[in-house]
Amino acid sequence: MKNIETILIANRGEIASRVIRTCRKMGIKSVAVFSEADRDALFVEQADMAVFIGESAPAASYLDQDKIISTAKKTGADAIHPGYGFLSENVTFAKRCAKEGLIFIGPNSEAIDAMGSKSKAKTLMTKHKVPVVPGYQGKDQRVERLTKEAEKMGFPVLLKATAGGGGKGMRIVHEAKGVEKAIEAAKRESLSAFGDEELIVEKYIASGRHIEFQIFGDQHGNAIHILERECSIQRRYQKVLEESPSPVMSKKLREEMGKAAVNAAKALNYDNAGTVEFIYDDKSGDFYFLEVNTRLQVEHPVTEAVTGLDLVQMQIESAQGLPLSVTQKDIKGSGYALEARLYAEDASNDFLPVTGTVQRFEYPEVAGLRVETAIRSGSKISVFYDPMIAKIIVHDTSRAAVMRKMKYVLKHLVCQGMTTNQDFLLHMVENAEFQAGKYDTHFIQNKIDLASIAKKDPNDKALAAISATLYGWQAREKGRTLLRSMPSGWRNNFYEPQFEAYVIDETEWKIGYRSKGKNHFEFYICEETYAVNLIAVEVHQIRVEINEIQYTFQIAKSGNELFVHNERMGNILIIQKERFPAKEVEKIAGGYEAPMPSQIIKVLVKTGQKVKSGEGLVILSSMKMENTIEAVEDGVVDEIYATEGGNIEAGFLLLKLKNK
Ligand code: ADP
Repeated sequence: MKNIETILIANRGEIASRVIRTCRKMGIKSVAVFSEADRDALFVEQADMAVFIGESAPAASYLDQDKIISTAKKTGADAIHPGYGFLSENVTFAKRCAKEGLIFIGPNSEAIDAMGSKSKAKTLMTKHKVPVVPGYQGKDQRVERLTKEAEKMGFPVLLKATAGGGGKGMRIVHEAKGVEKAIEAAKRESLSAFGDEELIVEKYIASGRHIEFQIFGDQHGNAIHILERECSIQRRYQKVLEESPSPVMSKKLREEMGKAAVNAAKALNYDNAGTVEFIYDDKSGDFYFLEVNTRLQVEHPVTEAVTGLDLVQMQIESAQGLPLSVTQKDIKGSGYALEARLYAEDASNDFLPVTGTVQRFEYPEVAGLRVETAIRSGSKISVFYDPMIAKIIVHDTSRAAVMRKMKYVLKHLVCQGMTTNQDFLLHMVENAEFQAGKYDTHFIQNKIDLASIAKKDPNDKALAAISATLYGWQAREKGRTLLRSMPSGWRNNFYEPQFEAYVIDETEWKIGYRSKGKNHFEFYICEETYAVNLIAVEVHQIRVEINEIQYTFQIAKSGNELFVHNERMGNILIIQKERFPAKEVEKIAGGYEAPMPSQIIKVLVKTGQKVKSGEGLVILSSMKMENTIEAVEDGVVDEIYATEGGNIEAGFLLLKLKNK
C-alpha cells in the first residue's frame, strides 16, 4: 500500500471543495491550485494550502500540466486528484503523473485511453458482451462510406465525433436527404472542436432514457457496480436533474444492466471510480452502452445519498492500492435521491449561460438536504468556467417525499445577482409527468414551455415592483441628511405622486406612489390602487403589507437590475429605468461602456470609421432585451474591445471614439 499524506487538487469550484472535505476527514493535507479569477474563491480558502498557478483562461492554469506537476512536487504532494473536466480524462497527464512519481487518483491510463475514443470504446465493449447502440464505428471514414452506413441503418441516425464529449459534437440526421452534407459539417465541426474528424454513426433512440451505473474497481482485480442513476433530464445533451433509483428500474433490469456495467469494468481492468452510461429504449426495453466516463461524475452525490458511501474516499483508497472495502453483496440502496444542478443560465433564452456576481446565496435547513457548492455571497460567475452555481441533493425514503423536499428547497433557496435556472428547476420538479417518472431525454424539448416559466402573473409583478420601489425609497431615505424629520417624497407638493419606470418581462411599467404618513403609502399601478405599509427593511430583504396581506421579498441590486425573489412567485427581474435621466458622464474620454451585463450581438462599426452623433455602434442583448449603444458625438472609431458573441459585465469598455 502506498501512503498518501498530501493531495493536490487539479480542479476548482465545488468539486475541489468536495475533495477537500474528504481529505480532511481522512487526515490528508489538501493543496488547492487556483487561477487569477479564483484568487478569493471559497475552495482556495478551504484547502490546507493554496498555490497560484496562472491566468484565468484554463489553458494557462487548470489545464497547464507543467505547472500542476511542478506545484505538486514543490508542495510535497503524493497524489493528484483531477476532479471532473479539465485534466481528469487526459491520458497524457495520467501517464505523466506516474512518470513523475505522483499518484493519479483515477483509473489506469490504459483504461482512460481505451475510453477516450467512442469508436474504440464501442469495439472493445462489443468484444466483452456489452450491448452497444447499433451503428458504424469503422476505420473507413470516407463520406460515401458513412453515408452508406447511415442509409443501411435507417433514419434517424446520430452522428457523433469519436473524440467528442460533454454533449458536444453530436448531430441528428432525420432523413436521407442531406445526409452527406450533415456528415461533412459534422466532420468539420469535430475537427475544429476536437482536432480529429473521425465520426461514428449510431441508430438514434427516439424515446431513450439515460441510465448510468457507478462502477468501482481496485488494483486487485475486483470490480463492482454501485447502482444506477437516471440522468435523462437534459438540455443540449447535458444533465440538469439526476436521480436514483431510476423510475423504470426493476430488479431484473438492474441485474442485467449491472452485469453489463461490471463486464465493462472488467474489460478495462478498471481500478478506480467510473461510470458506464447506457441509453435505455423505453419502447423495446433494450439498453445499449454509450460510454465509460473514467472519472468521478458531477452527479456522484446521488449515489452517495442512497448508499451512504464516500466515493472520493474510495477513490483515494483504490489509488493507494487498497482492496475495495465493499463487495457487490454489500451494495444496497436505501431510499431515493434527487440532484438538481443550479446554473447561472437563462432557460428562456436557450439556456445561455450568464455571468455576474452571486450577491446572495442562502438555502433553508432541511433534513436530508446536501448542497455542494463553492459559491458564497459575493462569489463571481465568470466567463472562464462552467456556470454551475451549486448542486442540490435531497434524500428521503420515498420518491414522493424527495419531490416534496426538492420543491421546498427550490422555493426557499435564495440565489440573487443574475439570472439562474432556479425557476426552471422548480417548474420541472412540479411537473406531473416528471413526478410520475414518465420522461425521456427529450422531455425538456417536448414537454416544457420554457418561455412561460419566466412569464409571471401581472399581480405578482405589481407586488414585486412595489417592494422594489420601497426598497429603493428606503435606501434614499437613509442617505438623506437634510429634513430628517420628513420622509422622502413628503415634499411641499406631496399630493403629487412620484413615479418610477421599470421594465419587467420586456414590458414597461410605470409605478406611481405617494407617501401617506410614516411608513404608509399608496401605490398606483395600471389603474389599480394599493394600500401599502412598509414593515421592515434589511440589507437584502423587505417586508411589506400590501392590501392587508404581508409579504417578505428578497432583493439584490446589480447596476440598474433588481432581482426580486419570494418563495411563492419565484424570481422576478426588474430593470430600473433612469430615475433622473443621466447626463452622459464618460469615465474614459470617448469611451463607451456596457450599461448592464450583456451579450454582444453585433459590432456595427470598424476601427477608423467615421461616425455621426446618434449612429449605432454596438448592439447588446441583456436578458433578451436588445440595446443599441449610440455615439453621443461625431468622431472616428479609435479602438474596439467588443467581440461579437462575448458575454460581458456592466461597465465593460466596448470601444473608444476620438475626435477626428
Ligand atoms: P458525450 O460523450 O458528449 O456526453 P454521450 O454519448 O454520452 O456523449 O451522449 C450524451 C447524450 O446524448 C445521452 O445522455 C443521450 O441523451 C444522447 N444520446 C447519445 N447517444 C444517443 C443515441 N444513440 N440515441 C439517442 N440519444 C442519444
